Amino acid sequence: MSATILVVEDEYAVARGVEYALQQEGYLVVVAKNAEEGLVYATQQAPDLVVLDVRLPGMDGFEMLRRLRATGSKAPVLFLTARDEEFDKVIGLELGADDYMTKPFGLRELMSRIKALLRRAYGDLADAAGGRVIRHHDLLIDLERRRVSRGSNRVSLTATEFEILRHLASRPGRVYSRRELLELVRDYEALDQDEKTINVHVSHLREKLEDDPSDPSFILTVRGAGYAFAER
Ligand code: CA
Repeated sequence: MSATILVVEDEYAVARGVEYALQQEGYLVVVAKNAEEGLVYATQQAPDLVVLDVRLPGMDGFEMLRRLRATGSKAPVLFLTARDEEFDKVIGLELGADDYMTKPFGLRELMSRIKALLRRAYGDLADAAGGRVIRHHDLLIDLERRRVSRGSNRVSLTATEFEILRHLASRPGRVYSRRELLELVRDYEALDQDEKTINVHVSHLREKLEDDPSDPSFILTVRGAGYAFAER
């Protein structure tokens, strides 16, 4: 699961060039031709970063960003602006834009700005473009490095805790029974066969991950069924 980038750009050639360059870097790319479409994709795909043209047919980029932020999205936004446009940096920054580039721009420069924004927003884990990273709010799970962090804080987990988290977070909303989790993590620890063992691991996980372990926002208890990772 590499970073997903939403590109909102009505100029076909620009959109295509940016899309291609991003794909070469290993990102997943979604292209929208206008702001309305962009907002729909932003809701469906929860992109990790948005490249947003300012002048779009219909709703402009500023308005789209305003509405995007109103949905609670904190994804970094990089504005694209034409040289002859008066780009109001102040408005852009006030709206929560993180960077901007003036057309025509070099794709290499764009790629390095995007990488920098991802790193700033998500820390080291964002280096794993093409790597497998699961993100939920400020919780990051780097599957390849087996690292977990919340914001800038590393969370240290046992192998079994990591495996439980990995399985749950890989499929948000999917309910796993204790029996199922026990089967899935068996290789990592000579677990006794008691399903209650899972409860103990989950409670340790919550103590390490949750703001309030008694009112978890990541690992939810599904009464009578098991556990599920919170959906976005
Ligand atoms: Ca345009």
